[in-house]
Amino acid sequence: MSTVSYAFDAKFDVDVPLLIVGAGAAGLCAALAAKEAGFEPLLIERDAVPAGSTALSAGLIPAAGTRFQRAKDIIDSPQLFAADITRKAKGEADAAIVDAVAHGAGVLVEWLADCYGLPFDVIDNFNYPGHSAMRMHGLPTRTGLELINRLRHAAETRDIAIIAERVADGLLAEPDGRIRGVEISRGDGGRERIGCQALILACNGYGGNRELVRRFIPEMGGALYFGHPGNRGDAVMWGEALGAKLSHLGAYQGHGSVATPHNILITWATIMQGGIQVNRDGLRFCDETQGYSEQAAEVLRQPGAIAWSVFDARIAAVARQFEDFRDAERAGAVLTGRTVEGLAGAMRVPAAVFAAEWTDVESLKAKRGQDRYGRSFAPEQICVEPFHAVKVTGALFHTQGGLAIDGAGCVRREDGTLLPNLFAAGGAAAGVSGSSAAGYLSGNGLLTATVLGRLAGQAAAGLCLERLSSGRS
Ligand SMILES: Cc1cc2nc3c(=O)[nH]c(=O)nc-3n(C[C@H](O)[C@H](O)[C@H](O)COP(=O)(O)OP(=O)(O)OC[C@H]3O[C@@H](n4cnc5c(N)ncnc54)[C@H](O)[C@@H]3O)c2cc1C
Repeated sequence: MSTVSYAFDAKFDVDVPLLIVGAGAAGLCAALAAKEAGFEPLLIERDAVPAGSTALSAGLIPAAGTRFQRAKDIIDSPQLFAADITRKAKGEADAAIVDAVAHGAGVLVEWLADCYGLPFDVIDNFNYPGHSAMRMHGLPTRTGLELINRLRHAAETRDIAIIAERVADGLLAEPDGRIRGVEISRGDGGRERIGCQALILACNGYGGNRELVRRFIPEMGGALYFGHPGNRGDAVMWGEALGAKLSHLGAYQGHGSVATPHNILITWATIMQGGIQVNRDGLRFCDETQGYSEQAAEVLRQPGAIAWSVFDARIAAVARQFEDFRDAERAGAVLTGRTVEGLAGAMRVPAAVFAAEWTDVESLKAKRGQDRYGRSFAPEQICVEPFHAVKVTGALFHTQGGLAIDGAGCVRREDGTLLPNLFAAGGAAAGVSGSSAAGYLSGNGLLTATVLGRLAGQAAAGLCLERLSSGRS
């Protein structure tokens, strides 16, 4: 149970300047930035080896104006990126945070590449929905596991302390909300108290807490949760107890393309390159290119809460750059048909209905047409046999609502003023996706984890420095 106790005379087993709860992308970026600023951060992490939702992701970080883009003649700018985020979030995202992440992302990606050797490149053979330039930066395997392992390695080589198998389950605070320290439970049942001058909550959102999901996101209350189970909403519960402002708790990243029953993510490249989704009756049901996040609920509304993603061999070749897709092929999740009718047989959907949908879409592609849902098609998306299909369902990936912060990650009170020494980044903080799943622009998750993690680490280090030079402990 996550609690806040008010204790002036609390005794601590150890005191540190900067404590960070959670060693995912947000926590590790915060720690690297704080260490660069001259402070020794201490990270505490629930798991034996840091992984978090970061390890489950594709590890793709959107960033604008990078040298990786320039090398491929991709024209982009932070302003264009900010406009894309704002448009997708229907103007509901906090403009200061949008500005901070859109301008900070290019710097972040080049910082991780130059200072810590992360070998990013930019994906240039397909684009994600809502992005007006190719700006997804990824590592060679296109996995979040590679991202988290490289971040952890960077932290370890800089002697940043990560104490594993420790769960923060209580905050100790003063009545004005100043954090004095954190209560920790150890794997062996023991307890510790760590005092700190500044605290960064990097423990993600509440996707792993079914009760909170039902409370704030009823439409996903029964859905498969595909994120890290240890993300149990501690930041939100602590924030609520401290009188912090909580924003957009109904926002989340869903995904409408998780292979079932295999539970493997099927990249949205399958759709963006010209694929479609049909339900088990062989019928299309929406414009799939709106975004994979809102597609989760669309798929869950279909009979049997499933859909089929259908595409061809050309698209499969693009998708194969993702390890997940290769895993899906190995697991037998990707069906093949020499003809549309043959594929319909393998999918067990009514062949005539499916063939009519398919023919309709292919003819729209040939004439650059638009379908009944408003989706536009182009000739280069035309599919040729053999065809492929994957049975998918919708899943909750992570929550996007959380603690309201300023552009440096400092947590706001209900009245908008800042709490004295509490910061949040990544899934612990309210993101830039507005109030629903539809506001999630691809990459918003790692964008706010890495960029705001770095900014929070810098700001918290600045606060510690200020307190040190003014002689306050
Ligand atoms: C399948 C999948 C694919 C995704 N793909 C992408 C993508 O390609 N691009 C993108 O931008 N986003 C993607 N996302 C979202 C992205 O993974 C998250 O937004 C991001 O990883 C959040 O980072 P974080 O550091 O906030 O949280 P996490 O990486 O989840 O780290 C939080 C850490 O805190 C620890 N923790 C939690 N509570 C406590 C506690 N009380 N005490 C101690 N430790 C605690 C957890 O164990 C965890 O290690 C994807 C998500 C999923 C599930």
